[in-house]
Amino acid sequence: MAIYSRNFNDVDLSDPVKAADYVKRKAMEFGADAVGIGSIDRWNTAPLQMDPKQIMPECKSIIGMLFRVERGSLRGLEEGTYFSNYSSMGYGGITYLYMPMTVINLSKTIEDQGYEAIPMGHQSDWRGIDADGFTPRNYSRPVRPGQATPDIMIQLRIAAFLCGLGEIGFSKMFLSPQFGPRNRIGIVLTDLELEPDPIYDGPKLCNRCGECIRNCPGQCFDVNNTIKVNLAGHEVEWANIDTAKCDITFRGAVLTDEPQDKPYMQERPNSKPGSWSPFYRKPRNLYNTGQAVCGARGCTRACMISLEKRGVLENSFKEKFRRRPPWTVDWNTPPVYSKGTLFRDQQTKVSDVD
Ligand code: SF4
Ligand code: SF4
Repeated sequence: MAIYSRNFNDVDLSDPVKAADYVKRKAMEFGADAVGIGSIDRWNTAPLQMDPKQIMPECKSIIGMLFRVERGSLRGLEEGTYFSNYSSMGYGGITYLYMPMTVINLSKTIEDQGYEAIPMGHQSDWRGIDADGFTPRNYSRPVRPGQATPDIMIQLRIAAFLCGLGEIGFSKMFLSPQFGPRNRIGIVLTDLELEPDPIYDGPKLCNRCGECIRNCPGQCFDVNNTIKVNLAGHEVEWANIDTAKCDITFRGAVLTDEPQDKPYMQERPNSKPGSWSPFYRKPRNLYNTGQAVCGARGCTRACMISLEKRGVLENSFKEKFRRRPPWTVDWNTPPVYSKGTLFRDQQTKVSDVD
């Protein structure tokens, strides 16, 4: 028996148009739901700590890929009965399992042909900036004069925009024409020259309906304080978001003035469950970062409902998403358990005592 190995340098990728077609077909084959390409000059005005050229100075192209969050993974949250699926299958699982497979396989395919490729997903835990773009002191230091402080973090929503895959909505969420806000984004940096796609110019997705703002359980958006940026010559504006508040709210917590006897989040003594969480304590993370108890109630679910109602998404469904009135939990009243609930300490079903 002979050793089996991959073929190297057997595809001519010297023509950027043909190379782009090859790379896109491979990305779809490996599991992307949509793929677009941005030329590196579109990042010319990127801040130092977010500049891809700081990672790969010879980078010529960035390949952007969308991975849909299944609408079904939001179903259990919408019904209020099954919260873990979004955090696992729709969030951490895509980020830490599915997407890495695709971006790694695509990078290997490019490297087989003699071009360097860096696979990237949401794995930015080592980044040298905080959620608001500031560099924390005493975290890391530049290794050469003129270089950024490790690690660089490429803004993935902006990358998807610069790869022509869609818009950035008023919620700052990336909106694709296929799935609206239901996307995770992966990218590959490469020194292979690929024909870029135009910046998205399709049907307008965000119409400033404000559903994301009104339905955010933490009221994390400040519509009177918008952020305006110029991305490759295109003006983009979104509502400022209090990321620290979102960070607490999306885990299902609300902060209190006084420490709680049994705090909702172990690491925050002054936390209790909000009306958007049915859990007495925050459940443990799934796939490292999956802890989205709020289920993106405003920025994803409400936005998706709004976009679907307007009929602007390509991934349309036979039945509307919201079929029952939205629920909230009243933590000031005792729980009412349903028939069939069985407590070990009672050894009696609720149905038996009725
Ligand atoms: S909910 Fe409305 S305003 Fe908010 S991002 Fe979606 S389309 Fe835009
Ligand atoms: S994740 Fe939840 S808390 Fe954060 S902005 Fe979206 S709806 Fe608001």
